[in-house]
Amino acid sequence: MKKKFAVVGYGGMGSWHVNHALTSDVVELAGIYDIDEKKSELAKSRGIRAYASLDELINDKDVELVTVAIPNDVHLDTVVRLLNGGKNVICEKPVALSSAELEEMISAAEKNNKLFTVHQNRRFDVDYLAIQKIIDSGDIGKPIRIESRIHGSRGIPSDWRGTKEHGGGMILDWGIHLIDQLMLAYRGEEIDTINCTVTNITNKEVDDGCYLTITFKSGAVAFVEVGTYNFIPLPRFYMKAEKGTAIITDWREKAKVVKCKYWHENDVLPVQTAAGLTKTMAPRDSITVDEYEIDIPKSDVHDFYRNFCAAIDGKAEQMVTHDQMRLDMKIMEYAFKSAELNQTIKFDEKLCKF
Ligand code: NAD
Repeated sequence: MKKKFAVVGYGGMGSWHVNHALTSDVVELAGIYDIDEKKSELAKSRGIRAYASLDELINDKDVELVTVAIPNDVHLDTVVRLLNGGKNVICEKPVALSSAELEEMISAAEKNNKLFTVHQNRRFDVDYLAIQKIIDSGDIGKPIRIESRIHGSRGIPSDWRGTKEHGGGMILDWGIHLIDQLMLAYRGEEIDTINCTVTNITNKEVDDGCYLTITFKSGAVAFVEVGTYNFIPLPRFYMKAEKGTAIITDWREKAKVVKCKYWHENDVLPVQTAAGLTKTMAPRDSITVDEYEIDIPKSDVHDFYRNFCAAIDGKAEQMVTHDQMRLDMKIMEYAFKSAELNQTIKFDEKLCKF
């Protein structure tokens, strides 16, 4: 039977959750609650029940699951009230503004014996899944360095995301998705250091981009770049691995893999440059490498809700665990600290594995 479900916040992402519910096989929309009367009216005009207050929603005993899609600074209060009110809760990302806030949420979930998770929907993005598929296949060995970039050219959206007070900025908005994906790609690796630089090209109050380097104890590196002032984007993913290289130029494109077949080459055709000939930097020919594309992986974002509903019924583990949420949050905190101090910081958390 489908679970009765409600959404708090009927803005951009709240509407997405509402529309998603309409085609879901596991949840059925009971209604929304938004602090803004106009949003409530809009919902009603679309035939959706709008609760008059959060308490009214909490008191609706039919509602088993609530998704919170409101600005980042107000996640804590709403999530805790819902959990204390006996609801299972999915909170939009970034789940909180600090580890301390997150711990309050987790404690409320544990105290009330309710499930709580964060909506990491970009675990279903096919570009990330293609990189994961290449890693899992083992065909080019373990990753040595993965660069994950997302480049736009329109600055930060002109809403609460541009303000510190509401938890704006691109690390919290996009960085969190890319960090979460790379921590899955490097699952089991222990973090050694974090270095982050932020950009403030279009917004001085919060970061409008970042360059974040996570170094693992094994020597492997995860690099995250978010840019909102890039009129020519760099590739979405670039992965250097033990036996080859993979690239995804654009998130709608297939992943291309170049695998080293023979390390040694006999007849390298040198490249002529103004400064002379180079064999070291000359491209390889098809005799020593294999080149192929990965089919775009199949993905169904409905699996997020399917998993969480199964977890509520005790039939599955929730896919985004509390420890993963904790680690993502810690990485963001270290990133902000590194940017503020302008230095690389040793990651000395006990909890340093995904
Ligand atoms: P938005 O500004 O479009 O909508 C926010 C809505 O919340 C507004 O309608 C506002 O009136 C309402 N609101 C504000 N405070 C409230 C409160 N205390 N109680 C009830 N309603 C309240 O913002 P958005 O783009 O929908 O972002 C909402 C959340 O979703 C953020 O945490 C954001 O990071 C996240 N988000 C996630 C994704 C994703 O892909 N996972 C994408 C976009 C946004």
